[in-house]
Amino acid sequence: MARILVTGGAGYIGSHTSHHLLARGHDVQVLDDLSKGYAHNVPEGRLHVINLLDSSSLDRFLATHRFDAVIHFAAFIAVGESTREPERYFRNNTGGSLALLEAIERHGVRRLVFSSTAAVYGNPDSVPITEEAPLRPVSPYGESKLMTETTLKWLDACSGLRYAALRYFNACGAEAAFGIGEEHEPETHLIPLVFRAIRTGEPLTVFGGDYPTPDGTCIRDYIHVSDLASAHLAALESLLAGGASGVYNAGTGRGYSVLEVLRAAEQVTGRKVPFAVGPRREGDPAELVADSSKLRKTLGWAPRYDSLPAMVESAWRFESIRQGKRGT
Ligand code: UDP
Repeated sequence: MARILVTGGAGYIGSHTSHHLLARGHDVQVLDDLSKGYAHNVPEGRLHVINLLDSSSLDRFLATHRFDAVIHFAAFIAVGESTREPERYFRNNTGGSLALLEAIERHGVRRLVFSSTAAVYGNPDSVPITEEAPLRPVSPYGESKLMTETTLKWLDACSGLRYAALRYFNACGAEAAFGIGEEHEPETHLIPLVFRAIRTGEPLTVFGGDYPTPDGTCIRDYIHVSDLASAHLAALESLLAGGASGVYNAGTGRGYSVLEVLRAAEQVTGRKVPFAVGPRREGDPAELVADSSKLRKTLGWAPRYDSLPAMVESAWRFESIRQGKRGT
C-alpha cells in the first residue's frame, strides 16, 4: 500500500484512476480546484479543494500528509479553447505543474506520473506513432503539456525525480461500478456528443468528410478510461519499485473513424445517430493511432477493452444512469 496524491482527481480520468487506486489498496488523497471537475466523482472524504498555483495552501497540505508518489492530472484540456486563450493554458497547465513540482521537491516526494497527451506529436508523419516520433504540437494545449514533459526530463537528470509521462490518445467509456463517467462542460468530445444527438435529435456535426482516410473522416485510437487508469497504476507501481523514468504512448493501437464510432453507437443503442458532415475542425490531424508496444512490454500493460462497441456500451450505460438521475 502506498500513499498517493492525485491532482485533478475530480475530473474524468483522474477520478477513474483514484477509484482504481483505492480498489487496489492504495491510500488516495485528491487535490482539485473544482474549476472543471465534480466533487461527486471523488471517493468519499478524500477531496481537498486547492489550486496548484496557490503555493501556500499547497505547502500546508503537503506538510500534513506524507506521500510516496503523485499522479498529476490537473489541467485544462480543450484544444480549441487553448488556441483562443493560450496564456490561461500555459499558466494553468505548465505553471501549475511547475508549482506542483517545486512543492513536492520541498516535501521530499520524488515519484510522479504525469498525464500527457498525443497532442505533443501534432501532425504525425506516419502512424502508428512511436514515442520517438517528432514532437511538434500544433496547439498551446499540446505545447503546455510538452513543456512539462521537458521539465520532468531535466528534473530526472538533475534532481533525482523519477517520472512516467503517459501520452493519452482518445480516452472514452466509463466504469458503471464506480458511478462515474465522462462529463465535460462544455462537452467537446465525440462519444458524449453522439449520445446528445441521439437524445435531442439535433444532428451531430462530423468535422470533415474529405480526409485521406478510407471513409473520409478522422481516425482516432480510442482507449477505455479503465485501461488508462490501469496504465497509471502500472507506471506508478514500476516507479515505486525503483523503476526508471519513461514516456509511454497510451492507446490500444487500433484506429476507428468518426463514422465507425457513429455506427458503433447505433449498434449499442439501437437508435439512429442524426448527423451532418461539416467543415474540418482546425488542428485535427487525419489519423492518430498509438504504437503502444513500449507500455505493453516495459510495464506489462494490456487493455481489457479492445473493441469499440464495448467501450461505447460502457459510456452509454453511464449516460443512461446520468439521464435517469436528471429525470429526463
Ligand atoms: N468530432 C466530430 N464531431 C464532434 C466532435 C468530434 O467529428 O462534434 C471528431 C473530431 O474531429 C475527431 C474525433 O471526433 O476526429 C475525436 O474528437 P474528440 O474531440 O472526441 O477528441 P480529440 O481527438 O480532439 O482528442
